[in-house]
Amino acid sequence: MCAVTLCDTPLMYPFTRRALPVLLAVGGLLLPAALAIPTGQAAARTTSAPTAEADTDMRSNALRERRLVGRSVQGRPIWAYRKGNPQAERVVLVLGQMHGDERAGVRTARHIIRRVPVSRRADVWIIPTMNPDGYAADTRNNARGVDLNRNWPTGWEPTSTSGPAPASEPETRAMRAFLKRVQPTFIASLHQPFGVIGRSDKNMRYVRRLSAELDLPIARVQVGDCVGPDCPPGPTLTSWYNTRQPGYCVTIEFPARPSEAFLTTTAGPGILRAMFAY
Ligand SMILES: [Zn+2]
Repeated sequence: MCAVTLCDTPLMYPFTRRALPVLLAVGGLLLPAALAIPTGQAAARTTSAPTAEADTDMRSNALRERRLVGRSVQGRPIWAYRKGNPQAERVVLVLGQMHGDERAGVRTARHIIRRVPVSRRADVWIIPTMNPDGYAADTRNNARGVDLNRNWPTGWEPTSTSGPAPASEPETRAMRAFLKRVQPTFIASLHQPFGVIGRSDKNMRYVRRLSAELDLPIARVQVGDCVGPDCPPGPTLTSWYNTRQPGYCVTIEFPARPSEAFLTTTAGPGILRAMFAY
């Protein structure tokens, strides 16, 4: 059985390995800028691929805004960074971390903020961590010992780490208010260490695309022993968002010790591509 104290999840569901060919080679549009062929050569080699200039026009690395989502128990700020086009209809969010000792997602989030150009057809938000106290202390839970992924109002149960009441924690309340206001169509909630994409029947196309981009298998990620589509919603952000809001949230479990190349070259642009935001 799962070591529930460490994970979001027993992973007993059969894996659905999706080693699909990566769906990126549709012209130069989706190639990383570093691989873009200079316009002249591109024009000489093909008449159908977009030019490097057109590619650049589609994306921007500009930071549009830094917004205070709220503050932690100890008063640390929870920051959201905005790139892309604030007027765009498609709104997406990368949440780098909820559990303070799962550090890899923060590295990916920071890399996206600094280095990854995003589509101007998307309004892209990045929150490196919603648990800055846990991050500072390198602990899973917040400063009051509450697991922020057990504190959401869907399926909340009183346990030693779920908090005294649903949404009792300032970090949970701040994120809930932000999500209701911003209403992302796609959310990627980053965790460790299982190395899977959480199955979500609400939008399997998004799940499969993430699986292909990150080359990680799909598995049902949930709390407790119930496995299957008829299980009640759990007290997680992903469960709350998929139950109470119109958009789609997927839990991504990075491996225990991912390489820097995976976190930056693969995961950063890959997550955005799955959200159609790269
Ligand atoms: Zn986690």
